[in-house]
Amino acid sequence: MSFIQGIFVALRNAIHDLLNGGSPRPEELSAPIVFHNSLSGTREPFTPHSPERVTMYNCGPTAYDVAHIGNLRSYVFADTVRRTLLTAGYHVHQVINITDFGHLSSDGDYGDDKMTKALKREGKELTLKNMRLLAEKYTEIFISDLSRLNVDTAAIQFPRASDYIAAQISIIQMLEEKGFAYRGDDGMYFDTGRFPAYGKLGNINLEGLKEGARVAATSAKRNPTDFLLWKLDAKMGWDSPWGKGFPGWHIECSAMIRETLGWQIDIHTGGIDLMPTHHNNEIAQSESASGKKPFTRYWLHHEFLNIKDEKISKSVGNIINLSTVLERGYHPLSLRYLYLTAHYRSPMNFTWEALDAAQTAFLKLRKFVDEVAALGSLPSPYVQRFAAKISDDLDTPGALSVMWNMLGDKDVSRENARAGLIEFDKVLGLNLAQADEHAKDLYRKEFGVPVGIHDVPERIQDLLTQREAARMEKRWGDADDLRQKIESAGYAVEDTQDGPRLVAKY
Ligand code: AMP
Ligand code: ZN
Repeated sequence: MSFIQGIFVALRNAIHDLLNGGSPRPEELSAPIVFHNSLSGTREPFTPHSPERVTMYNCGPTAYDVAHIGNLRSYVFADTVRRTLLTAGYHVHQVINITDFGHLSSDGDYGDDKMTKALKREGKELTLKNMRLLAEKYTEIFISDLSRLNVDTAAIQFPRASDYIAAQISIIQMLEEKGFAYRGDDGMYFDTGRFPAYGKLGNINLEGLKEGARVAATSAKRNPTDFLLWKLDAKMGWDSPWGKGFPGWHIECSAMIRETLGWQIDIHTGGIDLMPTHHNNEIAQSESASGKKPFTRYWLHHEFLNIKDEKISKSVGNIINLSTVLERGYHPLSLRYLYLTAHYRSPMNFTWEALDAAQTAFLKLRKFVDEVAALGSLPSPYVQRFAAKISDDLDTPGALSVMWNMLGDKDVSRENARAGLIEFDKVLGLNLAQADEHAKDLYRKEFGVPVGIHDVPERIQDLLTQREAARMEKRWGDADDLRQKIESAGYAVEDTQDGPRLVAKY
């Protein structure tokens, strides 16, 4: 720790002690963070540029369709990184970009453009405005899905790539001035031959890439790994010094990072599929334009969510969306729990049985929190063990097992275990500190807890009041509808001498 950092930490501790009396300081509940950095291929202690503020960028979705549960793994992982940093006392400036105009469907420069295909799919005319509207529709669903998974979307910046066209053009101009960009037949290219470190991230086998790279027939690339910075398109796009067209996909991330977080950032995340091409291209662009190294200090890449060992993806045709999960009666946070059961660097197979098990575990936690009303004091040894796991490159399965050990430990009172659980949940993000009627309904069904009249959720009690009003006013049809609603929520109306009352059917 530098002298300045030392002063900062001492100051932060003094303020914390003043405000929070005897409660433990953030660093007493967290251990020094270590991340597996894809750049070095090794585990490294985490030291951000600034001692108190961490800058983090997560490659966001192309908003051409509803994100699937594989994509969502990416952002719950990013949220776990954020939560870990917050519990360690950092402020986090987090950015997830939205790709809202066409780029080619492969990581390289070939294939059809996903946004154009989506406009055709939805029978819309091919215009920039329609592209933007289409993207906004799916962005809204994306952000609402994240909120359902208890990602704090209000704290995240979601820049749209189409709002940053000037910034993208400006970086391409810098690259051109410095001799890193050249004009090809169909647009401006980055000259990877001028960037000797190209392919360093993940130690990419450039020879393999060269063999595998499909060079578009129209473009005379200088090197097979060169990529488009600006794609000319006479029909549609934005004006630029090189002609009308679109920015290449990779430049949008370099530009939005520079605009929102600066030339150099602490953490950059994405799925492993983005590492070889997209992320190496981002590094090449940003470091060449700024002359500053490294562009990103810590590169964190997560593995895929698979079904039967195949990546969930549109091209495989095995897509499951969050809406399907909810329609099947699952709680969204059961999916979040499921993600946490695997380490982010391990591939995970999704099955409905695995989601069932995750839901049972999640509901057990909910039930425990609801049953034990009072908060005790933190069971320090478990808090420290939990922190050690999570700080160790986000070992979420290890952290969950510490949590279950604590809950099963007869020497830890239920009140203290509840306090521990609420503390752990700052990282797990299962929203355990808040009441959750949906989860309550689900665990009553799952664990068959008898429910008495005093234990009926307010929502159902309201339905009964409305039914009574309908009966008084002789609106028999409405009264029947309301009775049905009550019954489909798992309750029955008993008309007694003292008036109607609700009983649970399970
Ligand atoms: P895309 O919208 O295709 O650019 O993907 C957005 C993010 O989701 C990227 O970080 C991808 O690496 C990630 N991703 C795509 N498919 C999966 C999957 N099956 N499992 C986990 N992450 C995925
Ligand atoms: Zn990106």
